[in-house]
Amino acid sequence: MEKKVIGTCQLCLEEKQLQKSHIIPEYIYKRLQEDFHIEPLKVVHMDLDYFQRDRKGDWDNTILCPTCDNKIGKYDEAFKLFIETQPEWKYQPPTETQPFGAYSVGTIENFDKIKLFFISLLWRAHLSIKPTWKAVDMGPLASRARDLILANNPGTDHDFSVMLNILRPPKNEPLTKNHMLIISPSKEKSYFDGITTYVFYLTEFTAYIKCSNRPWPNRLHLSMLHENKNSYIIETPYEGSLSNRRFAGFALQKKEFFSKKLGMDFKFTVQKTAW
Ligand SMILES: [Zn+2]
Repeated sequence: MEKKVIGTCQLCLEEKQLQKSHIIPEYIYKRLQEDFHIEPLKVVHMDLDYFQRDRKGDWDNTILCPTCDNKIGKYDEAFKLFIETQPEWKYQPPTETQPFGAYSVGTIENFDKIKLFFISLLWRAHLSIKPTWKAVDMGPLASRARDLILANNPGTDHDFSVMLNILRPPKNEPLTKNHMLIISPSKEKSYFDGITTYVFYLTEFTAYIKCSNRPWPNRLHLSMLHENKNSYIIETPYEGSLSNRRFAGFALQKKEFFSKKLGMDFKFTVQKTAW
């Protein structure tokens, strides 16, 4: 029997029995197995120097009561429905002035819930006591995120701005397990002119979530998810992407294990990213 945990729910702040809540929704892990027949591979923070296969994803029973977990579950569900609309997204190939391809996704239905999915993902990772999420520290913005979640309010474009990239394998190769990774999040600043941004690696999607009161530089505004107007998802070549560099750097240290036991072959390349 699983031990029941009584504690303070971090959302409603009531003393209750707390629920086993996922940080990254379980369907993202399941999707790998069911749609792509890939065993999910999660890399626990590199400082810890280990990784694990993870079928069901990481959960934490110190964050939410069942009612609040259910509320956030609706955001998770909205993101699931959103990625299922992928076949309808209009692909715009690279041009001379736009070196990267992009998917034009139109006006996002249920934008509020999609945006709140990303805000709550960041917030859950911030609150979790599990080592996978230790890179995330929202500081005073955690209470702003909580207020937005409580009010079902996605905030403005500049509150926890989100940019979503999609990884594409090189030279039209099919998606393989080399490209479909769930890795612990990282904090990035240099690509965002010093503005704190957390990066979540959600299989072929890479989500960048701003965690700062300062806006992202103008060059990124077109690539952000917007309310009430067309949004774009930028295609990132896998080679040279943050996921590749982050994971390949780790995999190189464990090369023998990855190549012999998992049949994975990593090419570690340093190229410019999409932005
Ligand atoms: Zn609660």
